[in-house]
Amino acid sequence: MTVIRGATTIGADQPEEIRNAVRELLEQIESRNQLKRDEILSIVFSSTSDIHSYYPAKAAREAGFASCSLFSAQEPEIDGSLALCIRVMLFVEKNISPHHVYLKGARVLRKDLTEKFNIAIDGPAGSGKSTIARLLAKDQKILYLDTGAMYRACALAALRAGINIDNEAGVCDLMRTVSLNVVYEDGIQHTFLNGEDVSDVIREPEISMAASTISKHESVRMKMAEKQREIAGKMSCVLDGRDIGTFVLPDADFKFFLTASPEVRAQRRYDELVAKGHRVDFETLKHDILARDEQDATRAIAPLKKADDAVLIDTSDMTIDQVLRTIKNKMQEKI
Ligand code: C5P
Repeated sequence: MTVIRGATTIGADQPEEIRNAVRELLEQIESRNQLKRDEILSIVFSSTSDIHSYYPAKAAREAGFASCSLFSAQEPEIDGSLALCIRVMLFVEKNISPHHVYLKGARVLRKDLTEKFNIAIDGPAGSGKSTIARLLAKDQKILYLDTGAMYRACALAALRAGINIDNEAGVCDLMRTVSLNVVYEDGIQHTFLNGEDVSDVIREPEISMAASTISKHESVRMKMAEKQREIAGKMSCVLDGRDIGTFVLPDADFKFFLTASPEVRAQRRYDELVAKGHRVDFETLKHDILARDEQDATRAIAPLKKADDAVLIDTSDMTIDQVLRTIKNKMQEKI
């Protein structure tokens, strides 16, 4: 005997949606596993507690799966579970290597069975990108690539080498010799510059503006974008930056552009720096953030910009949890 698993989600708790979703799920399981109907012994469904309007087992019988025993049950209400989700287990007479089938929003339940996907999160400084990207990556059990850290490491390399970061030719020469790598330890990104872990030192406030200035140069952007595409090409990841949705991965599966009012963004950065023990003046910080955004948004190559197909989220009055939920809901809608 073989047991085959599957799941799908519906857009709304309506009988028609349930009937269609159950039919699609069972037909896909059937065709991917080359099953004959009379080889199915039993089908067991469970649905999330937000589904009340129809029994999935009844939908299965109506879809022509009538010769096996059918059963459906409701799952308890569990915090953070997928919304409007129907799960299924098929007991099949023959011995095969099963192809489990996860459709629509339920694809996120089994990353190992579904294809690679990338999520682009762009936005200005302090919009909440990195916090959200980190949490989202953890939630989806995929990699988080902080692309800003890479530009920060380039800026550090130039400052240490005593190169004027405005000088395109000097920076271009430097980029030929610089070795930059991102390495993951327990899911945490470590940025290595010429073999040294610079993850902490690149967070110093004076590196921020230098990173923005050096990132204007084509030689820097091309080298970084190539590395970012290489990583995103190999595995599912959340990338945060300024140009991910527009330039690095214009075909990213999901794109978000986070923003917030200048006051809120400056306050977040202020709190972050103060917590790390830095002495900062709020007005100076706000001025610096706005100057950096202006420079990032007006550069010639891959400027800070919302991709036309990115979902815009103003996080000014939202909690981290609300932003995360909004993003996850949007992703589910898209699947
Ligand atoms: O996100 P973070 O503040 O660490 O980024 C530092 C700087 O790196 C940004 O101000 C921006 O100029 C540059 N950057 C970029 N493209 C990215 C990520 C960061 O130009 N994808």
